[in-house]
Amino acid sequence: RRVADILLAEPAERQAVVVSAMARTTDALLGLVAAAEQSAPDLASRQEALNSRYRTTVGALLRQQNRADEILGTFDADMADLRGLLHSISLVRQAGERSRDVVAGYGELWSSRLLAAYLGERAQADARKPQIRWVDARDLIVIERGEMGPAVRWDESRARARRHFGADIRGISVITGFIASEPDGLFCTLGRNGSDFSASIVGALVDAEKITIWTDVDGVMSADPNRVPEATIISSLSYNEAMELAYFGAKVIHPQTMAPAVQRSIPIWIRNTFNPAATGSLIGPAAGSQQPIKGITSVDDVALVTSREQA
Ligand code: ASP
Ligand code: MG
Repeated sequence: RRVADILLAEPAERQAVVVSAMARTTDALLGLVAAAEQSAPDLASRQEALNSRYRTTVGALLRQQNRADEILGTFDADMADLRGLLHSISLVRQAGERSRDVVAGYGELWSSRLLAAYLGERAQADARKPQIRWVDARDLIVIERGEMGPAVRWDESRARARRHFGADIRGISVITGFIASEPDGLFCTLGRNGSDFSASIVGALVDAEKITIWTDVDGVMSADPNRVPEATIISSLSYNEAMELAYFGAKVIHPQTMAPAVQRSIPIWIRNTFNPAATGSLIGPAAGSQQPIKGITSVDDVALVTSREQA
């Protein structure tokens, strides 16, 4: 509900929102894969827990029966597929990487479809009546897996983005985070916590004016508040400063996540879903202020070894 409040309050005419799975869902899905590998007897009851949690959420959010039926119909089909996948994993007693990725990605499909349906209901009562669309990122983001992690195939992804986000598209596009496709069409994920990366990729694909990472803190902190109670929110910092802070242990945004935005100089805002009144932190091409030191981080339990070549 809060997410819908935030999105419907945004004045921009075109928004793309990338969502992650509901809390703990990806862990639960990967737990199912591990349980299937061991042919665990409680597989069915664990799957049932996911089932009832989703149904409860759908029931609590959607008022229109036809929307709820449609969402639950798709969900039931996914659940049947999931049961089949888990069954075959339990027979083989080992999950291949592909099966694991397919299972892990369900969480984003379910959360984004539900958000789109809920926004659809809310949009009817909204003065602007924004159009709501659902986009499966597997039709949008094409990646190649390399030793350094996933690398976006920009030309192919851009061509797809042009099809999905033509100039005539208005309103809110709800997009699955975390999942993508490979050039051969196989499904894959961007790695754990990959939804921020998805958001940055989508931002670059649509040449977004800005990318906002909605999280659970007011912004990038000048120090770890557990150790430095006086720590404050850094109102603006450069990409380099943010990368440096992240590299040295601050829980900012992951440097890899920022890369697509940095390449196109798109400003990244870090804002708090639970406190949308807070301005947040702006990470952009410019430092924003002349303050020479923006933040202090520390890395624990690390030994630093410097090796010098003998002249
Ligand atoms: N749901 C995925 C995960 O738990 C992606 C994300 O949260 O960003 O890793
Ligand atoms: Mg997450």
